[in-house]
Amino acid sequence: MILEKYSFGIGDRFCHQGKAQLSALMKAKEQGLSITPVWNKSHREHTIIGTVPADTRREALDAVKALQWDGPYFVDADHIGPGNVDQFIESSDFFTLDVADFIAQPADKADVDTFVKKYGKYISSLAIDGIEQNLEVTEEKIRAIAGKFLLAVKQAGGIYRHIAEAKGAGSFITEVSMDETDQPQTPVEMLFILAAIADEEIPARTIAPKFTGLFNKGVDYVGDVSGFAKEFEEDLAVVNFAIKKFGLPEDLKLSIHSGSDKFSIYRPIAEALKKFDAGLHIKTAGTTWLEELIGLAMAAPDGLSIAKEVYVEALVRFGELCGPYETVIDIDTAELPTAEEVQKWDGQSFASALRHDQSCGQYNPNFRQLLHVAYKIAAEMGTRFTDALDRHEDIIAQNVAENIYERHVRPVFMEAR
Ligand SMILES: [Zn+2]
Repeated sequence: MILEKYSFGIGDRFCHQGKAQLSALMKAKEQGLSITPVWNKSHREHTIIGTVPADTRREALDAVKALQWDGPYFVDADHIGPGNVDQFIESSDFFTLDVADFIAQPADKADVDTFVKKYGKYISSLAIDGIEQNLEVTEEKIRAIAGKFLLAVKQAGGIYRHIAEAKGAGSFITEVSMDETDQPQTPVEMLFILAAIADEEIPARTIAPKFTGLFNKGVDYVGDVSGFAKEFEEDLAVVNFAIKKFGLPEDLKLSIHSGSDKFSIYRPIAEALKKFDAGLHIKTAGTTWLEELIGLAMAAPDGLSIAKEVYVEALVRFGELCGPYETVIDIDTAELPTAEEVQKWDGQSFASALRHDQSCGQYNPNFRQLLHVAYKIAAEMGTRFTDALDRHEDIIAQNVAENIYERHVRPVFMEAR
């Protein structure tokens, strides 16, 4: 089982927009651009919303059937670990093994020694195709990397083998993710993490490092764009090197988490993909829910009143909603519109404040980020919310599809060809 060159993680909180999401990739296909849809959803999201992995599988199946999609597609058990993997085994065929919690937990001394010995041959000023400056590899660096990451990769190996035993090796895609940690990984670290993944015999198709800069939820990239561009290119070069030297799967590629809406780095990403003829997996999650709210707001009066209700309640429960996302949102509370102000808005005002169009004077990133984490409130509304999604399916679907196609598929994948 292989993963196509381009794949797109189209997570969907309420499992309602599968068809709309797929229609955006269908449109790309009509232009000769093949992108594999991957419906990703984490244990955390399932728990907050009250869905189960089988719901995601059903959503994918329904969409594929309705649109007669004949390409590959996957259901991703996103950010799973030893404690929750079993709930996902039946419904998923893509597993994102999250071992970030084990990073920096010291590895066994003997394992570190063996690793250092095995990879000692790379101690040098290492030339890698596609990287201008040689990577400086020293014994101390290899030892430090092994000490920091070996245990995490071993954990990933354990989960991988557990899934393989249950489902059969070769019947699913494996991603290793290390993005939910404080420190970005350098290209040298990436190199030896990939070596360790090969040693564990994990047939990883995607690797999600933590990149330099802030990948906050639902808003643009914050950081040094040229620094990111350099790091991204070096990571691509390291992946190619690792495929050849360590015997990792030929289709191994990078995966970018919280990849939606990072408009200012899409151009360097597309250029780097073109330069290296490389593939990419990009994950989005929460933003389809924001398009649902935009669609509802535009469907006055009942849709708009639900959208307003979510915001007003989110203001009241600010701390509770933002807490779990503290490190990936940045809200200036002074810039949040008050409940009274929002109550006076028409649908267009609500949609313009929320839609991620930086050229629009009404766009408010603080408003957008608060709503991004407010899906719990909609989940608590139960069928009142999901019935409204059904009632206004047309306008919502239009927003969902346009967001994926125009703001993501075009700048990233179309430009990478
Ligand atoms: Zn992630």
